[in-house]
Amino acid sequence: MSCPFCTPAPERVFYRGDLVVGLWDAFPVSPGHALLVPIRHVEGWFDASP
Ligand SMILES: [Zn+2]
Repeated sequence: MSCPFCTPAPERVFYRGDLVVGLWDAFPVSPGHALLVPIRHVEGWFDASP
């Protein structure tokens, strides 16, 4: 199964670090809403690196 977060549209990426990618939300719940996506695939929030 393909992962939509591994190949985001370049215009959505506002940050790319070693652990996290920052993406502008395609359907923001409020102005400026963004997603911080861990690069490593994890099952849940608490499996992510501190
Ligand atoms: Zn992915």
